[in-house]
Amino acid sequence: MHRIYLDHNATTPVDPRVFDAMLPFLRDEFGNPSSLHWFGQTARAAVEDARADISRLVNADPREIVLVSGGTEALSLALRGLAAAAPPGRRRILASAVEHHAVLDTARALGGQGIDVETIGVLEAGSLDLVDLERRLADDVLVVAVMLANNETGVLQPVTEAARLAHRFGAYVMCDAVQAAGKVGVDVGTLEVDLLSLSAHKIGGPKGTGALWIRRGVPMRRQIDGGGQERNRRGGTENVAGIVGFGRAAALASGERLPRSADVTRLRDRLESLILKLPRTAVNGTAGRVANTTNIAFGGIDGESLLLALDLEGLAVSTGAACAAGAAEPSHVLRAMGFSPDRIESSLRFSLGTSTTADEVDAAARIVGRALDRIRGTARWPKAQGTR
Ligand code: PLP
Repeated sequence: MHRIYLDHNATTPVDPRVFDAMLPFLRDEFGNPSSLHWFGQTARAAVEDARADISRLVNADPREIVLVSGGTEALSLALRGLAAAAPPGRRRILASAVEHHAVLDTARALGGQGIDVETIGVLEAGSLDLVDLERRLADDVLVVAVMLANNETGVLQPVTEAARLAHRFGAYVMCDAVQAAGKVGVDVGTLEVDLLSLSAHKIGGPKGTGALWIRRGVPMRRQIDGGGQERNRRGGTENVAGIVGFGRAAALASGERLPRSADVTRLRDRLESLILKLPRTAVNGTAGRVANTTNIAFGGIDGESLLLALDLEGLAVSTGAACAAGAAEPSHVLRAMGFSPDRIESSLRFSLGTSTTADEVDAAARIVGRALDRIRGTARWPKAQGTR
């Protein structure tokens, strides 16, 4: 069976060129970048080359990039590190209601340490309610968290507008760009943010490596003590092969993923229009989106049952955030957009990749149509076989 993978927001396959770049650092060039000898310095040079490639992806100064274990750690370091270094009068965190759990749960955990956390609403189309943000801002806000692209709907958030509002009150702005990098241009200067998170495995790199960009001057207390790695901002021997892979993936993302986004948009729109021809279907998140994502409600259907039926036919999609799948917790993103529990339960996310083909999209739409027919009991085949 040819399996069709439309779950690239959960993770992407490692690009073969990334794999090739990583291999030497798992074999002969195994040095510890902190060592002064040839082995160590070879690894150090590779880490710094990767850091430069990663910084170019977001137009940042390489010295402001902290290499970490992934998007989750980047977001955790940003919030916890800021909170630990915050002046006494700044005790509130504002986070958009559609942030990833890595943001929302970290912020809530800080709630036990004297920090107040509030969520900013979103509009039904999925984008941030700037009026709600402005209403909540005051001089006691430490940081405002607004992601660039939502992982469940693909909706792009008005980050620069939010940053301008937040800065009027002296708050820092943290932008989760994990799902945006490689899909839209990301420029820390244009965004006007203070911290920005990235993850390698969403852009054709390996899992378990990511980065936090911290604008110079932003107060930050490191969260992992130990060796003085990463300019004292994150202890621990570097994941050299992973970082090298991340660097290669970042270079490829700048060079060729972005230019391909027009093709991906065309395929996503084609998939969407084919599925929307099926009865009782609707798109969740109609604001401007990244190229590869569509989130679709299938009226009267249990999304998880549909997902499993599609998987049996070789089509891999998702009910929302990968880490929430199986947790039987309805999507907080769709809930924040004001959708009914029934609609939320009936929704699936399709996320395409740069290797997705038109044939795969057409086959995926056919598989969805057949599965829906079967589940809704409208399939013709039982009659044709003489059964009732
Ligand atoms: N932020 C967003 C928007 C994500 O989609 C994800 C992963 O799904 C993360 C953060 C966490 O990244 P990682 O898997 O590298 O920890």
